[in-house]
This record gives sequence, C-alpha cells and structure tokens, in this order.
Amino acid sequence: MDSCLFCKIIAGDIPSKTIYENDYVMAFDDIEPKAPVHVLIIPKKHISTINDLDDSDKNLCGELFLAAQKIAKIKKITTSGFRCIMNTNSDGGQTVFHIHMHVLGGRKLNWPPG
Ligand code: 5GP
Ligand code: ZN
Repeated sequence: MDSCLFCKIIAGDIPSKTIYENDYVMAFDDIEPKAPVHVLIIPKKHISTINDLDDSDKNLCGELFLAAQKIAKIKKITTSGFRCIMNTNSDGGQTVFHIHMHVLGGRKLNWPPG
C-alpha cells in the first residue's frame, strides 16, 4: 500500500535495521525503543489491524510468533523473558495501521501495562 509506512520499509524506501526476515515476515528495531530490546515484526502482506485478518491469514499469524521466537534467540532473551504485544485501534494505542508484533525485553517489564 503506497501510503503505508511499514509497506515502505518492506520496499526498502525507508531504511530500517533488519533483525530477521523470511518470505512472509520482516523484523526490525523500533525507531523509539521502549526497552533494551524492542523489535517490530510485520507481515510482508499489508493488513491494517487484527480486525482485518481472515481465515487465509492463519499461517501468517503463526509466522509472527515463530519470528518472535527467533528474535528472542537472536537477542539472547529467551531465558530472561520477553513480551509480545499487538496494539489495535485507538484504545489499544495503534499508531501504524499495518499489523505488527512488538517484541520487548532486556529489562523487567511492568504489569499491568499503563
Ligand atoms: P503502534 O503504536 O502502532 O503499536 O506501534 C508503532 C511503532 O512503530 C512504534 O513503537 C514506533 O516507535 C514505531 N515506528 C514508527 N515509525 C517508525 C519508523 O519509521 N521506523 C521504525 N523502525 N519504527 C517506527
Ligand atoms: Zn502496509
């Protein structure tokens, strides 16, 4: 999608620090990290919100979690722990409307979130 920030990152039109990539997903460092590890995993297919997923996206959803597992290994936070978050719409705090999984770690994370 031409107007989508994350589609531009996938296309290479906006630079990013790629951490992991396969045919289906791409993962890169968040530009404003909220923890020592803060990686965003995005599907290469444009999907605006979780509300827009359908049955044909089941495998893609699995790819997001498997990528999170790989990122935790790459960043060496498998044992210390990490958090996977997907924000949706206004109350969820979503600001970029191309679904993405935040992988946060490297410090003790608070619960419940603010
Ligand atoms: P959301 O608020 O939609 O859940 O998360 C969007 C995330 O994208 C934010 O954590 C924000 O810092 C990150 N972000 C916004 N613009 C860019 C960018 O141009 N590059 C990268 N790497 N991250 C971005
Ligand atoms: Zn997009």
